[in-house]
Amino acid sequence: MEVTVYSPAKSIKNERVFKVIVIGDSNVGKTTLTYRFCEGTFLTTTEATIGTDYRSKTLNLDGEVIKLQLWDTAGQERFRSSIMRSYYRNADAVILVYDVTNPATFASLEKWIHEFTSQCAPNVTKLLIGNKCDNDIKVSTNQAQKFADQYDMPLFETSAKLDSHCDHVESIFLTLAHKLKNRKPLIPEERELVKLRAKVVEDTTQSSWCSCF
Ligand code: GDP
Ligand code: MG
Repeated sequence: MEVTVYSPAKSIKNERVFKVIVIGDSNVGKTTLTYRFCEGTFLTTTEATIGTDYRSKTLNLDGEVIKLQLWDTAGQERFRSSIMRSYYRNADAVILVYDVTNPATFASLEKWIHEFTSQCAPNVTKLLIGNKCDNDIKVSTNQAQKFADQYDMPLFETSAKLDSHCDHVESIFLTLAHKLKNRKPLIPEERELVKLRAKVVEDTTQSSWCSCF
């Protein structure tokens, strides 16, 4: 497999752009993981990302230019249903993150799954990451694997903090890029269904939009 990483600032013709949203409870390491992948280092302060909608990374996978737009919730995950809707719109992939040292963040995954399945396309690519493996692990691999199998998504356990896991974080995102590259486009009926769903969600939630967003 040939992989070349371009500078994100360069605009490249014929690139395929994929919107990837990173969700999960606050503090599980979503920002740190996306930063680790895009910048290659551990983020020591998360303040730098506040106000940022997304980070991108452009890859050359076997001759095809793939741009991953990684949407980070910048703290807004606390508002869940109302503000998070703009993140789900047109997402090609969802990365679900939990903290392996905090079982409550694992227990929340059902709610996150429920939320994105009601708003994303049926063929959205899913991936589960158990982060902070450098610490005291309280969610077993066995338990997490069963959950991942139940929802038909691959599981990766990693650490955004340890430099020794840097290649692992990179390979997780590369796996995702490959899955997206090989994905079949939606058939017309599926596209209509997605539009319809988005409309129903908009109609039922107009009053809950927050003006501070
Ligand atoms: P977010 O709210 O999900 O975006 O989480 P952040 O990326 O802001 O991370 C929350 C806290 O967990 C920060 O203090 C990070 O430094 C820390 N953190 C993130 N990833 C790891 C990891 O892999 N291991 C450890 N030990 N801490 C991490
Ligand atoms: Mg964050």
